[in-house]
Amino acid sequence: CGIVGFIGQQDSKDILLKGLEKLEYRGYDSAGIAVMNKDGVHTFKEKGRIAELREIVDEKVEAHTGIGHTRWATHGVPSRVNAHPHQSASSRFTIVHNGVIENYAILKREYLQDVQLTSDTDTEVVVQVIDQFVAKGLEVEEAFRQTLSILKGSYAIALLDEQNPDMIYVAKNKSPLLVGLGDEFNVVASDAMAMLHVTDQYLEIMDKEMVFVERTSVTIKDLQGNVIERAPYKAELDA
Ligand code: GLU
Repeated sequence: CGIVGFIGQQDSKDILLKGLEKLEYRGYDSAGIAVMNKDGVHTFKEKGRIAELREIVDEKVEAHTGIGHTRWATHGVPSRVNAHPHQSASSRFTIVHNGVIENYAILKREYLQDVQLTSDTDTEVVVQVIDQFVAKGLEVEEAFRQTLSILKGSYAIALLDEQNPDMIYVAKNKSPLLVGLGDEFNVVASDAMAMLHVTDQYLEIMDKEMVFVERTSVTIKDLQGNVIERAPYKAELDA
């Protein structure tokens, strides 16, 4: 399983699909991408191979920001409905996630009594909780921070907010995730190999950090909200 993300000036679809192909070796049962432009978020997902996903991606949709996922099902059978990305009930937020949210049933009982879930995944609970927190009046960054601080388990997460096409929200805990730095673009990847075709400069992300990835900047914060400075390293092909 794996995650990719892209925010820049070029169209993101092919960069995301190529990145997912580079992560195929990790194993998966389904795949999907969500790309975001001024018209909103467009999600394409399918059970099966990336080659099958490529066939359903609408070439006409142009978008400079997007996230992609290969799934290794842990909660809910492999199917198109359970494939990532998952969208919140308001349709504002879209998420991809690798890992296992151990307390998803508790979170569902506590925060999502009134929400109709559309998949059987633990992942969907995360995006719905963020949505609920924003509906109650929190800023997106604070909703993201509070949600991360109640999650138990492992996660690599990339999140899109339809109302902010210039940002990818990223976080990790006990699952791999890196941010790659480019000239007028930045990327997200489970593994540097996925995005070596666009950059060899990477920022390591530590557990329980949140990262705000924009086209020309990357901000890392801890879960208390303190900004963390970190220098990138050069990824080598056969490291
Ligand atoms: N637990 C999530 C699911 O079953 C993510 C699995 C993964 O890491 O791909 O959908």
